[in-house]
Parts: sequence; structure tokens; C-alpha cells
Amino acid sequence: MQLSSNFTLEELLHSTEADAKGFTEQYSPAQDVVGNLNTLAQQVLQPLRDKLGKPLNISSGYRCTRVNTAIGGVHNSQHLFGQAADTEVPDMTIEDWFKWVLASGIEFDQLIQEFDHWVHISYNAGHNRHQVFRAVMNEQGHAVYIPLHVSNG
Ligand SMILES: [Zn+2]
Repeated sequence: MQLSSNFTLEELLHSTEADAKGFTEQYSPAQDVVGNLNTLAQQVLQPLRDKLGKPLNISSGYRCTRVNTAIGGVHNSQHLFGQAADTEVPDMTIEDWFKWVLASGIEFDQLIQEFDHWVHISYNAGHNRHQVFRAVMNEQGHAVYIPLHVSNG
């Protein structure tokens, strides 16, 4: 099912973890989740794709509860609601992609540069908090989210 010019529902549901473990519910999300994924594609992913002028890859979109638990996602992850996607762009460093999204002016709820592995972008229609973080692993191996100050200018 096509959500926008360049993004399909299938792409945002795809999960190697679900495939490996047989979590079939990953591929039959609730209707409100599909609605949120559609909004995410329309309001964030497609505008980013259009402005960038080349493909961006989605490493994780929606996650059913079992997938989210299996990969150690936080219990209230926006991935559970179809409100977030982890992204990367070929031939672009994660940090550069993170800064590019920030500078693009495209609205988001949370933008997180996670461990130099991907850029997490969420959208929550009508409730966007415009929060920006850089996530790093501390010496104990725990994720630490460092907020970035962003001026409203
Ligand atoms: Zn994420």
C-alpha cells in the first residue's frame, strides 16, 4: 500500500526481527497505527525525501510489542504507535544526516541521533515537542540522551 510517492506501508512494517522470530502480528497493525504511519510518511518522510532529492532508508518503522521488547526498545517507544522511523542515507554519515534533518525546517516531534547508527525521527500530529537529542553509550553500556538546545529563531 502506497503511503506517499516514495514510501509504502510494507517498507514501514518490515522487520527482520519479526521475520526471524515469526511475530506475524508485526504485519497486521491496528488501523490507528496505519493512520499514524501514513501521517509520518506524508508529513515527514516524503518532505525529507523530496528536499534531499535521493532515497533515504528506513531501518525500523512500526514495531509490534514483541518486536519492540525483543530489540530492547523503551516500553513507550513511538515505534509502537507508528509514529517513528529510524533512518539513514547512503553515502552520508549519520551525524551529517542528523544535522541535515535539523536544518531542513521539516517539523518533527523528536529527532534523535542514536549511537551514530541511525537517525530516529518521530511525528505526533498536533503534539510535536520539537525535541532534539544525541544518544550515546556511557561507560556502563547504558544509553544516555543528551538534549541539544535549538533556538526558535
Ligand atoms: Zn527509533
